[in-house]
Amino acid sequence: MPAEPQIDVPRHLFEAYERLAAGPTRPIAGGTDVMVAITGELAPIPERMLDLSRIDALRGIQLEAGSLVLGARTTYTEIRRSALCREHLPVLVEAAATIGAAQIQNRGTLGGNIANASPAGDMLPILLATDAAILVGGQRGEREIPAKDFFIAYRKTALAPDELILHVRFPLPPGREVRFRKVGTRRAQAISKVVMALAWEDFGSTGWQNVRVALGSVAATPIRARKTELILEGARPTPEAADLAAEILVRELNPIDDVRSTADYRRMVSARILHRLLREAGGW
Ligand SMILES: Cc1cc2nc3c(=O)[nH]c(=O)nc-3n(C[C@H](O)[C@H](O)[C@H](O)COP(=O)(O)OP(=O)(O)OC[C@H]3O[C@@H](n4cnc5c(N)ncnc54)[C@H](O)[C@@H]3O)c2cc1C
Repeated sequence: MPAEPQIDVPRHLFEAYERLAAGPTRPIAGGTDVMVAITGELAPIPERMLDLSRIDALRGIQLEAGSLVLGARTTYTEIRRSALCREHLPVLVEAAATIGAAQIQNRGTLGGNIANASPAGDMLPILLATDAAILVGGQRGEREIPAKDFFIAYRKTALAPDELILHVRFPLPPGREVRFRKVGTRRAQAISKVVMALAWEDFGSTGWQNVRVALGSVAATPIRARKTELILEGARPTPEAADLAAEILVRELNPIDDVRSTADYRRMVSARILHRLLREAGGW
């Protein structure tokens, strides 16, 4: 019978920071990723864990200076029920509804999805597409890391072992639209084969501006398809632009074959999703 880890349950951030600074400690939020990983079969069981469930400073959804700010401990159910998310960034509500099923949505948190950094994490392309920033903190202080710099390699992030994710800040530029699509094997409890978030601004005389095409499950980390973004930047949402963007995306992506899908399937489905999102945006 493997030894159980020692679990600390701090109420305040400073206590959590002290424990993290004292030596290797594994935070646990909803536990929906961590509990699967600490059976001892995949990796050694952590000696110490830090239960974040009593730290109120990690909770809450609010508007702050033109941004929507979500605490790391915000659950998917809270996102789904949030009037602020629904009004200001409804794509979060849409994506939260596709995660696992009710049990996972009740426990799983945004911060856990980010720290776990699975390439298939469904919220992560939204962070990239919306230029979100991740506020992290520890005894050495707080810092804000742009989502584009957070996911460094396969399941490796810019978060230091003595830091916690505190909040996620989603800027809300006027006139921005964001779309989301996830493709999995089933409607619930499905890990993504491809997940995409598309964002743009200024749907007027200047064509599309600040276009973001972000994807999950097609590389070792969630990624932005920057060549495809360039093709769409300044373009009008015409069938020709959609055809070209889909073609560029197929060439730009280099996914792997794995148990969930083949690389070819992922490439083709990504292109189809992008084409459909552009078509819906253009209304043709
Ligand atoms: C049946 C099932 C279905 C699932 N379906 C989906 C799905 O459809 N889409 C999807 O994206 N994911 C899915 N997941 C994965 C998981 O539910 C999500 O990634 C969830 O958001 C993890 O959040 P959590 O709070 O449970 O994280 P935890 O398991 O508590 O933690 C995950 C990791 O993050 C770290 N961590 C947590 N909070 C913080 C913090 N504030 N600061 C620093 N580190 C932190 C932990 O140490 C751990 O390494 C599923 C999991 C299961 C078991």
